[in-house]
Amino acid sequence: MEATGLDQAVKPGRLWIDGKQVDSVSGKTIEVINPATAQPLTRVERGDAEDVDRAVEAARRAFESRSWSQMNASERSKILWRIGELIDKNRDELVMLEALNTGKTLKGARGGDMKPAADIFYYYAGWARHYHGEVIPVDGPYLNYTLREPVGVVGMITAWNYPMLLAAWKVAPALATGNTCVIKPSELTPLTTLRLAELCQQAGVPDGVVNVVTGYGPEAGEALGRHMDVDKIAFTGSIRSARALLKASGESNLKRLSLELGGKSPNIIFPDADLEAAVPAAFWAIYANKGEVCSAGSRLLLHKDIHDEFLERLVDKARNMRVGSPLDPKTEMGAQISQAQLDRILGYIGSGKQEGARLLCGGEREMEGDKAKGFFVKPTVFADVKPGMKIAQEEIFGLVLAAMKFADE
Ligand code: NAD
Repeated sequence: MEATGLDQAVKPGRLWIDGKQVDSVSGKTIEVINPATAQPLTRVERGDAEDVDRAVEAARRAFESRSWSQMNASERSKILWRIGELIDKNRDELVMLEALNTGKTLKGARGGDMKPAADIFYYYAGWARHYHGEVIPVDGPYLNYTLREPVGVVGMITAWNYPMLLAAWKVAPALATGNTCVIKPSELTPLTTLRLAELCQQAGVPDGVVNVVTGYGPEAGEALGRHMDVDKIAFTGSIRSARALLKASGESNLKRLSLELGGKSPNIIFPDADLEAAVPAAFWAIYANKGEVCSAGSRLLLHKDIHDEFLERLVDKARNMRVGSPLDPKTEMGAQISQAQLDRILGYIGSGKQEGARLLCGGEREMEGDKAKGFFVKPTVFADVKPGMKIAQEEIFGLVLAAMKFADE
């Protein structure tokens, strides 16, 4: 695919309710920013509680109509497969949209987002026909069995780092098992989720089964979490928002939740490691998708015998990493998602320096040429990090690696 320019226009996004594009009740909108330019890319509706009500009503109607939950599993399976095919067919457009909206590279959006998103639908197309209960042998003249049924209306709330993929992870299994859904994507990255809903309809999903309400967490997200007619929330995001959702569930209908949250994953390297394999593995563990990964290898524990050589090789790669326009095929790392995330990362870098960690590379904004306009940061490595330091303890969700030395297990 040709890179067609970072300033291209993207059409505004409307809410997707009951198989139609609609405006929000309030008429308010949110500006969607291109992280590589810090300029507006487009606008989407700022949905709130009233829009969530409309979407949940549509999802409930669709569920009760049994048009989806009681459809033959073989039919549901074929539709899920078609969604996968439509993601593949529209891959170029979706890849471009995701790169423009998230600042990730075209290559990353293609291989790391759209390819697996399509694959998830192919995978769950199989599951639509394979989930079933059991017959349990019990004493006496009794028939004892379990029957698996859909939960009902599922609210889905997603983060900004893999917008399409996170939506696919939630929508595909929910649809495979006969549920209906209302998705609230991150306010920063709503565009591909809106397209996914259209593709679901094109594939044959009945109206009202998949709905999308774009909006802010404390408005649309909170309303979904507190809704008395939502049976389950599937959430990916921060611990802070997860706590709010657990509280909302407790104070409403005790809806069940599945929570995918953050982390501070370590890679531990012993002297017998194959450095040819371990250095690039540790490198991509932190720098893939700009470090915006819940399982990013953000701590690196190195045995003293290989510590210096390992860091020398890794820092060399970090210094030579090509940071730049997400649309340039040579770029290895694009822009961080937002001004807030940029400030947060620079804040953690400041804290690392202040607490006495040794900065080996990066540690500042990338200011060369046009990059000064966007949210670009140089890949950063700190050595001599102590376990008590903030950069060793807290999830940064950005491209900062905290390396520590150890002598024995
Ligand atoms: P976030 O919690 O700020 O936002 C996630 C979603 O929750 C967004 O859609 C947001 O609008 C919504 N939200 C915010 N407040 C809410 C509220 N009170 N009620 C309901 N919804 C609310 O997280 P983020 O900044 O988008 O993402 C970063 C975090 O997500 C990191 O901690 C990261 O590790 C985690 N994450 C985890 C995974 C995983 O698979 N485990 C994947 C991606 C991101």
